[in-house]
Amino acid sequence: MSTYNPYDNVLRVVDQAAKILGYAPEDYEAIKYPERELKVSVPVNMDDGTVKVFEGFRVQHSTSRGPAKGGIRYHTSVNMDEVKALSAWMTFKCAVVNIPFGGGKGAVICDPKQLSERELNTLTRRFTAAIFPLIGPEQDIPAPDVGTNATIMAWMMDTFSIMNGHCVPGVVTGKPIELGGALGRQEATGRGVMFTVKNILNKMGIPVEGTATAIQGMGNVGSITAKLLYENNMRIVAVSDVSGGLYKESGLDIPNILKYLSEDRHHLLEDYNEDGVTHITNQELLTLNTTLLIPAALENQINENNAAQIQAKLIVEAANGPVTIEADEILSQRGITVVPDILANAGGVVVSYFEWVQNIQSVSWTENYVNEQLKEIMDKAFHGVWDISEEKQLPMRTGAYLIAVKRVIDAKKARGNWF
Ligand code: GLU
Repeated sequence: MSTYNPYDNVLRVVDQAAKILGYAPEDYEAIKYPERELKVSVPVNMDDGTVKVFEGFRVQHSTSRGPAKGGIRYHTSVNMDEVKALSAWMTFKCAVVNIPFGGGKGAVICDPKQLSERELNTLTRRFTAAIFPLIGPEQDIPAPDVGTNATIMAWMMDTFSIMNGHCVPGVVTGKPIELGGALGRQEATGRGVMFTVKNILNKMGIPVEGTATAIQGMGNVGSITAKLLYENNMRIVAVSDVSGGLYKESGLDIPNILKYLSEDRHHLLEDYNEDGVTHITNQELLTLNTTLLIPAALENQINENNAAQIQAKLIVEAANGPVTIEADEILSQRGITVVPDILANAGGVVVSYFEWVQNIQSVSWTENYVNEQLKEIMDKAFHGVWDISEEKQLPMRTGAYLIAVKRVIDAKKARGNWF
């Protein structure tokens, strides 16, 4: 890997937005630093009798606008700088859609697919105990991210509740429905991406139906996005996962692919086949000649090495940080529109907010109501960002940060500094 540091990416974008907004350096000095960074070690008794010590993190970037909010990532290559960047992106994501949260993120360096269910359960509970002093419904509320899911959230909620001596559903979101999880939460990020795709295609005068789309990543976000765009009659010509990708010019059979992937947690696309499918690499997927490209995997996928080869007209960032700042400049010079992550993938945290609201009020909303409210928030945020970007003739990422950074700085200024 190069010297790519995602936190530097965040700082440069924030700095640029704060300058355009005309803030003095002292107004935004504090938001350049996460409020808290915790590094923990997580010893686990493995099934083979050995003890393995995993490394974990929880970072709270900001609590200026509300409790810290953000997912827990289980991945082999995660590190503190990545968690810092991901936590800051959460701050600006919550601000751009205007929900009353700050930003946080956590991670454990591990490969969840290599752990047995018992090992994963133990690791999750030991990690929850290690970050226990930081989390809580009024302090910091974790949720699923890459490599984690509703079951893991249930174990976190159970551990936190046992340690407190009473049931605390609002400590995490993305829980199973029977524990107070929100209906619609599992599909929420993908649904939000779908609303965003429809909004941007509409602004660009491109029809939804038949439009060629490539999606990188078949995790929770990529797979639900593929499903919903397919249901909206878009032509999904390529999808990929860690094992590589599939390409079919006339459009892939997404329901069949999703069925195949869900049958076994070890199923990968490299073993999938249907008539007319060609197997491609992830790099080939990113540079395909499609109208729309949706990176829905990890950071740093479109960078200075491949930005000049991107052929899509439009990129909608379903992952966090998939396009680097250097790539952004190249894409913008080439006239490629990028809808930024903090806007496009905010659907997940918006429905996490709905879940938390339901938990602390002990009420439950219907799935229809959740989806309607999600659409309202996503549409409003999209139009806000579109309008400011058009008015100032700036890329949408800068427009989104103008809105988000202003909300965070103004909240911080209103609270004042403790002298
Ligand atoms: N991990 C998701 C994200 O990056 C969701 C976070 C949440 O719901 O708190 O936006």
